[in-house]
Amino acid sequence: MFFIFATYVYSMKDTFKHQGLRNQLVSVLQTKGVTNTEVLAAIKEIPRHLYMDASFEEYAYQDVAFPIAAEQTISQPYTVGFQSQLLEIQPGEKVLEIGTGSGYQTSVLVHLGAVVYTIERQQELYKKTSNLLPKLGYRPKHMYFGDGYKGLPDFAPFDKIIVTCGAPFLPKPLLAQLKVGGRMVIPVGDEQQMMTLITRNSPKEFDKQVIEECAFVPMLKNKNLKNFS
Ligand code: SAH
Repeated sequence: MFFIFATYVYSMKDTFKHQGLRNQLVSVLQTKGVTNTEVLAAIKEIPRHLYMDASFEEYAYQDVAFPIAAEQTISQPYTVGFQSQLLEIQPGEKVLEIGTGSGYQTSVLVHLGAVVYTIERQQELYKKTSNLLPKLGYRPKHMYFGDGYKGLPDFAPFDKIIVTCGAPFLPKPLLAQLKVGGRMVIPVGDEQQMMTLITRNSPKEFDKQVIEECAFVPMLKNKNLKNFS
C-alpha cells in the first residue's frame, strides 16, 4: 500500500529539471512563431510530462506529438501554442474544445482563464482525463463523452471553438454554435489538413482564413460509440 502511494506521488512530480526543459521548449516555440505571452506562460507552467505515460517522460518537452491511449496523440506543443494564440482568448470567455485527449490543450485553455467545455469520443480517454485534470488543478467547466460533430447545443453560443482532430469538412453544428464575433480554429482536410480560422461576422456571414498545413489524428464519426449520452 505504501509502495503504491509512494509510486503515485513520485509519478506526479514536477522537478526543477522539468521546469528547465519547459523554459527551453518555450524558447523553441517562440522561434517558431508562438509569441502570445499568456500562451507562453501557460506552456511554461503546465507540467506536460504528467499528461503522458511516465515511461515516455523524456519526450514530454520535445516539440513533437506523442501517442497517448486509444491510438490517439497529445498534440505537438507548437500546435497547442499556435491554436491557442489564434483563438485570442480573454479571461471568462466560453470555449468549446473538440477532442479532449490527454487534457493538455484543455489545461492551456483553463490557464488562459477560459470557461472550457470539452468533448471526447473515446471513453477510455474521457475517463482517464476526467480523473487526471482535477488532480493537476486544471478543471474545465464541463467534460463530456460525446460526439464533437454535434458540439454542445445546450450550452451554445461559444465565444471560441477549438477542434484538435482533423475534420474532413466544417461541421455545420459547430458553425451554428459560434457567437457572432467569435473565432473557431479547426484543422480541415483528410490525411493532411489546413489550419483554418473561422470568424463569424454576423448571423449569416463567416470569414474563412486558411493558415498553414498541419497533421492531426482524424475526427471520427459516431460509429464506434456505445453508451452514448
Ligand atoms: N487536445 C488533445 C489532442 C488529442 S488528439 C491533446 O492535446 O491531448 C485528438 C482527440 O480527438 C483524440 O483524443 C480523439 O479521440 C478525439 N476525437 C476524434 N474524433 C472526435 C469526435 N468526433 N468528437 C470528439 N472527440 C474526437
